[in-house]
Amino acid sequence: MDNSTAAANPQMIFCRACGAQMHTSATACPKCGATQGPSSLSNRRILPAVLLLIFVGWLGAHRFYVGKVGTAILFIITLGGLGLWYLIDLIMLVVGSFTDKEGNQLTLWT
Ligand SMILES: [Zn+2]
Repeated sequence: MDNSTAAANPQMIFCRACGAQMHTSATACPKCGATQGPSSLSNRRILPAVLLLIFVGWLGAHRFYVGKVGTAILFIITLGGLGLWYLIDLIMLVVGSFTDKEGNQLTLWT
């Protein structure tokens, strides 16, 4: 009867074809069958991620930003893979290949 909790659930997205609600992990709409694309776009932005990486990257801040908490902690422990992982993340961000927790690419700068 009350579906307001489902509507407010951040894990739910809307189908691009019919607008039906579905889980973010769904690859195809359960209602109309439209695929949501293999490379859906992240709602997170490159610029804040790059700034976080540059200024507080040693705290894994850019990985916390995209929701990758596990690897963020690993990033801190390994000191950014002794700088190598830090460099890889920076390149991935700049070329638009960095992905968030849901596996969506960050393609927009702002
Ligand atoms: Zn649909």
